[in-house]
Amino acid sequence: MSRQASANEIACRRRIEAALIAALVILVAIGHWRVALHDADSSVVLVRRPRGVMGTDCVLAAVVAQRDATTAEAALDAAEVLLRQVEARMSNWLDVSEVSQLGAAAAGVLVPLSPDTLAVLTAARDAFDLTGQTFDVTCRPQVELWRRAGETAIIPDVSAVAEARAASRWEDLDLTDSGVVKRTSSASVDLGGIAKGYGIDLALRSMQRSGLRGGLVDVGGDVACFGQQPGGRPWLIAVRNPQRRGPIAQLRVGDRAVATSGDYARYFEIEGKRYSHIIDPRTGWPAEAARSATVVADTAIVADIWATALSVLGAEGLEGLPQGVEALVVHDRQGGQRLVCTPGFRTLFIGPPAEAIPAIPSRPP
Ligand code: AMP
Ligand code: MG
Repeated sequence: MSRQASANEIACRRRIEAALIAALVILVAIGHWRVALHDADSSVVLVRRPRGVMGTDCVLAAVVAQRDATTAEAALDAAEVLLRQVEARMSNWLDVSEVSQLGAAAAGVLVPLSPDTLAVLTAARDAFDLTGQTFDVTCRPQVELWRRAGETAIIPDVSAVAEARAASRWEDLDLTDSGVVKRTSSASVDLGGIAKGYGIDLALRSMQRSGLRGGLVDVGGDVACFGQQPGGRPWLIAVRNPQRRGPIAQLRVGDRAVATSGDYARYFEIEGKRYSHIIDPRTGWPAEAARSATVVADTAIVADIWATALSVLGAEGLEGLPQGVEALVVHDRQGGQRLVCTPGFRTLFIGPPAEAIPAIPSRPP
């Protein structure tokens, strides 16, 4: 059963080209559950794969004593509800989402927003400054311009890029305690680079509050975990190789989160050239500095923000990471790929990485 599930998992991953794989650890844990059936205090793991969460694959895992299996079921239910709620509020694709309503609103009108959406917007505004203005949720006009370019296979002209850049400004959004007032009707936000992380944190925290021994939330390859698997085993997270099949490395991250962004997962091609779905707000063009960026942080929202920002900044951004945030950047070099990571990221590897990975020499305190 576990071999078949593992094959399914791999097929799924290939389809959506998600960056991280949590399947291995979970399947090992399922095997353990089977041998622990007769002992009420032994840990078991319940795994759920709800469909259609945030438009991608989702894996939820809860570790409890055998006798508390119903607690785990309830914890998984609650986690799933929270993820779906975040999606309903923050999706770009649902007309009724708060983000879509904000985009459609006229200037000068207060658009009421839930505390969740306001919390994400506030974190995004802080991140704009922290990331040297490379993480910018106001860049929706640019994202849409390049999405159309992908559909028509025509590069936008200089004036269209300039216009989209001019329409992407935090100055056009006034955040209040209850919502947002736009200063121009064209202002809009895209929370695609941060909402998943926020949702993962909400889901994981609710699982922690349920008294589980361990838990894991994986949405499209962005993962957060706490505690341990049955048998005291740590959760292990595999980092996907953006260039070929198979992982670059396996990580032991403890009670932390991992997020990966890159141009290998979602991209479009025009005249044979590959363009990322991540925009460099400094130029208005798709980001080019990294094939992928994997970030480990205490929370999934921080990992999500920095994975997107490092896709814009490239390896040069590693030195500007805040304390407690570790990262690996993969970028193209002379026909091949080069990997570089922070010294702290090196300590997370289980066994040697598949390729030589230099660490940047030092980071400012
Ligand atoms: P992620 O996969 O977390 O890197 O998020 C990528 C998504 O974030 C894109 O599909 C856009 O919806 C949005 N996005 C694109 N560029 C940026 C940017 N520079 N800052 C913030 N969000 C962005
Ligand atoms: Mg992100």
